[in-house]
Amino acid sequence: MKTLVVGGAGYIGSVVTRLLLDQGNEVVVLDNCSTGHADSVPEGAQLIQRDITESDGVLAGAGFDAVLHFAARSLVGESVEHPSKYWHTNVIGTRALLDAITEHQVPKLVFSSTAAVYGEPDVMPITEETPARPTNTYGATKLAVDMMITGECVATPLAAVSLRYFNVAGAALGAGERHTVETHLIPIALDAVIGRRDKLTIYGDDWPTPDGTPIRDYVHVLDLARAHVLAIEAAQPGEHLICNLGNGDGYSVRDVIAAIEQVTELPLPVTVGPRRAGDPRSLVASADRARDRLGWRPEFDLQTMVRDAWDFRRTTATGPAAAE
Ligand code: UDP
Repeated sequence: MKTLVVGGAGYIGSVVTRLLLDQGNEVVVLDNCSTGHADSVPEGAQLIQRDITESDGVLAGAGFDAVLHFAARSLVGESVEHPSKYWHTNVIGTRALLDAITEHQVPKLVFSSTAAVYGEPDVMPITEETPARPTNTYGATKLAVDMMITGECVATPLAAVSLRYFNVAGAALGAGERHTVETHLIPIALDAVIGRRDKLTIYGDDWPTPDGTPIRDYVHVLDLARAHVLAIEAAQPGEHLICNLGNGDGYSVRDVIAAIEQVTELPLPVTVGPRRAGDPRSLVASADRARDRLGWRPEFDLQTMVRDAWDFRRTTATGPAAAE
């Protein structure tokens, strides 16, 4: 199979690229490397360093069987401060890609959507029927793209799957998280263990949860990558399938801290700060549809995610710690 991975120099895109190559597929990566890293693209994949808005020239006459689309701005706080950047990159960029997909009749598309489209629902677990009410521009732009894709699948024979990720963690196949601006709990906490940061700040411990810290559903990046390959196989012409990807288990920030101290056998210095604007109390997935429609079964637990992220971070992460 010949695949185009848009955003294949980023964290999740580079793991999926490696998995596709391991399975004998041809992979071309389109990435402008604005947040991704050219050296995250493995040997064996061709990197075209160009913007998503120039995807027409990449797809023309190339005979791709599928496009996997990961390229996006994905920082919630930044999306609230600079909404225009998010609408331009995530929505207008994807519009250009969709036009090229239609023009050049690429039969299949898998899109990285997010749990952020759901906002702050009261009822857990979250199913794909839970009303999508994003509470920040990042989630709104991803929902807008999901809607554009639905329209495309009505109007054309495109076979599309949107995968709504919950909290992705871990490392696999030699690739892991290397964000220049890191906001995620596990890499920040691991940096505090290594001493690249002074401490982890817990964003509030007065939440209405059993230990006072927010609850999330963590999913291993290799489980997530496997779901993409299954999604390509499951995609049906003229259908836009939307699936949540999570383990269905909720872990609090304190649970994650305990797992990190257990795996690393080192103390994690923490302090409690104020809540982070826009953080929901609890997000836990129902992935029943991914199980039924994709045949997807997540294999890895939180311990494994932390262990793999730890192995990756202490051996490969470089550069100064980001300011807190
Ligand atoms: N969190 C925290 N301190 C940090 C980073 C994150 O307490 O330095 C908390 C955050 O409030 C949330 C959870 O960890 O409850 C997961 O946050 P992350 O940014 O990893 O993912 P999100 O759920 O926001 O997509």
